[in-house]
Amino acid sequence: ATPTSVMVGTGKGAENGILIKGAESLELAHQIKTIVLDKTGTITQGKPTVTDFLTVNGTANGNEIQLIQLAASLERNSEHPLAEAVVRYAQSQEVMLTEVRDFEAISGSGVQGIVSHKLVQIGTQRWMEELQIHTQALQPDKERLEYLGKTAVWLAVDGEIQGLMGIADAIKPTSTQAIKALQKLGLEVVMLTGDNRRTAESIAREVGIKRVLAEVRPDQKAATVQAIQAEGKIVAMVGDGINDAPALAQADVGIAIGTGTDIAIAASDITLISGDLLSIVTAIQLSRATIRNIR
Ligand code: ADP
Ligand code: MG
Repeated sequence: ATPTSVMVGTGKGAENGILIKGAESLELAHQIKTIVLDKTGTITQGKPTVTDFLTVNGTANGNEIQLIQLAASLERNSEHPLAEAVVRYAQSQEVMLTEVRDFEAISGSGVQGIVSHKLVQIGTQRWMEELQIHTQALQPDKERLEYLGKTAVWLAVDGEIQGLMGIADAIKPTSTQAIKALQKLGLEVVMLTGDNRRTAESIAREVGIKRVLAEVRPDQKAATVQAIQAEGKIVAMVGDGINDAPALAQADVGIAIGTGTDIAIAASDITLISGDLLSIVTAIQLSRATIRNIR
C-alpha cells in the first residue's frame, strides 16, 4: 500500500472511532474469512446483573441473607465482571460484607476463600464436579437459567451446594445487526467463550451465530484461534478481556473493544473506541476501499 492511501484509511478509521495501529492490519482486514467474537463484553454489554438468587434451604432464618453475605464478601476480592455483579447485588439488598482469608481465583472456574470460618467456593458446574461437590439439588433451575441465556453460578459452603445465582448480561443493541452484516459480507462468525455451552448457545441463537465454541479455558483461547487458522483462513478475533489478549495477539487481525482492558487493547491491531460491533463492518469496508485505491 502507498503511505498516502494508508494514511487516508487510518484517518477515516479514526473519524469513525476505529483506531488502526499499522498498515498491515488495514491491508489484511478485507481478507478476513472468519471472525471470532468473545461473548462477555464483546457481544454483550459486560455489565452483568444478578437476577436470581436461589438457595437450597429456602429463605428461613436469614439463611439467604447470610449466603449473600458469604458470596459477596468473597467476590469483593475478584476482578471478574460476574464478581462485581454479586457485590452490587449485596449492596442492593443492603447486606454488609465481611473479611476474607486465603482468597484464591481459579481462572475460568471461580473463586474460593475462608469467610466467617467457612470455606466458600463460587463458580462453574465443571469446577464443582472437579471438587466432587454434588449439584443435583438445583439442577433443573440451573438448566432453566442457562436456557434463558443467563450464567448460572454455584455457591458452595464447606463443600456443599447452598445456592445458585442467575446472572444476566444484556446483548448490546447493535450486536445482532452487526453480525448479520458480517455474514452478508461472506464472513463466518464464531462465538468463543469460557461460559457454559447452554448459556452461550442461547445468546448465539439470539444474535444469529451458528458456530459456538463454549467452555474454552482462558489459556486455550489462543490455541482455538490457531486451530481455525490451520483450516487455512484469515482470522480476526474481537475481545475485551485480559483472558482474550493471547487470542487477540494470535489472530491475523486482533480487534479490541475500547471500553475493555488495556491489556486487550495493547495486544490488538485495531481498537473499536465505542465497542459497537458495527464498527467492524466499517473497518472491513475501509480496508476494501484502501486496497482498491492502491490497485
Ligand atoms: P468469559 O470467557 O465469559 O469471560 P471466564 O473464562 O472468565 O469467562 O470464566 C468462565 C466461567 O468461570 C464464568 O462464566 C463463570 O461461570 C466462572 N467464573 C470465573 N470467575 C468467576 C468469579 N469470580 N465468580 C463466579 N464465577 C466465576
Ligand atoms: Mg469478555
